[in-house]
Amino acid sequence: MSPPLLQTTIVGSLPKPSWLAQPSKLWAPWALEGAVLEEAKRDATRLAIRDQERAGIDIVSDGEQSRRHFVTGYLEHLQGIDNEHLETVRIRQRYDAKVPQVIAPIVRPHPVHSEDARVLRAETDHPIKYTLPGPMTMVDTLHDAYYKSRARLAMEFAKILNQEARELEALGVNVIQFDEPAFNVYMDEVKTWGVEALERAVEGLHCKTAVHICYGYGIKANIDWKQTLGSQWRQYEETFPVLARSRIDQVSLECHNSKVPIELLGLLQGKDVLVGAIDVATETVESPQEVAATIRAALKYVPADKLYPCTNCGMVPLPRAVALGKLQALGAGAKIVRAEFD
Ligand code: ZN
Repeated sequence: MSPPLLQTTIVGSLPKPSWLAQPSKLWAPWALEGAVLEEAKRDATRLAIRDQERAGIDIVSDGEQSRRHFVTGYLEHLQGIDNEHLETVRIRQRYDAKVPQVIAPIVRPHPVHSEDARVLRAETDHPIKYTLPGPMTMVDTLHDAYYKSRARLAMEFAKILNQEARELEALGVNVIQFDEPAFNVYMDEVKTWGVEALERAVEGLHCKTAVHICYGYGIKANIDWKQTLGSQWRQYEETFPVLARSRIDQVSLECHNSKVPIELLGLLQGKDVLVGAIDVATETVESPQEVAATIRAALKYVPADKLYPCTNCGMVPLPRAVALGKLQALGAGAKIVRAEFD
């Protein structure tokens, strides 16, 4: 039997319960500590899984309930990184943030996400997806006082991420996704070393591999940036042909409510396309019909067996009830279009 068409999935993150971390806030500190915190993370992960399953999401994630931030949540487990003395850097050429710095050769002393992946695998019979930061986006979210070369540091991160990914695959993870919002900003570097680093990160993997490229959360710096991009957002036009030639299986992109010309999806021939049908930059919950319309528009450029309805980006900054509504709209919208195929 062939797998069902239009399998739904999310980019990765979901809001955390208020007993775990402050809601509606990026990089929110944990509300608990020690063993109680670890137990709370597992409980929140279970809830994130249940919410996805009940909403009709086919390929489920842990909602990133056990990390504070998609990049620094990884960096804080590595040696060679000073997480105490933060430096202010400009992120994605858009906003300043205080970030860790690289001060010595980077080493991963132990697996970072194995335990989280075990919880996810044990709690659901659905296919599961695990998200990791992409090498270029990691380089762009820290201060490098050691390697002094973005390309070299990215390759070092890629080797570490590859070890992590191989372990995740061995634990039963079906899709490993690398988040590379930086691919929408440094288009020349994507071509010279970005995709090369990404391919190093997926070396030897047999599970599905994905890359997520977006226009960011709905924070002010991103909304201001989008105002400068004109009436058509054509960043993908430069990166998709490079990705189409790469060994990455899936590309997750922003679509609904964006100014991305839909025909750019046609540049990803041969790849699975995770079509963003949920806008994470607004608290307005899409109707299932709106989701269905986005899927139908994408179907003109992506065959149904390669189209995965998805969110535009992570939902961590949204109120929990809004994110739940959006999950349900995604599941219901895909169901409408699936029925049209029967
Ligand atoms: Zn994103």
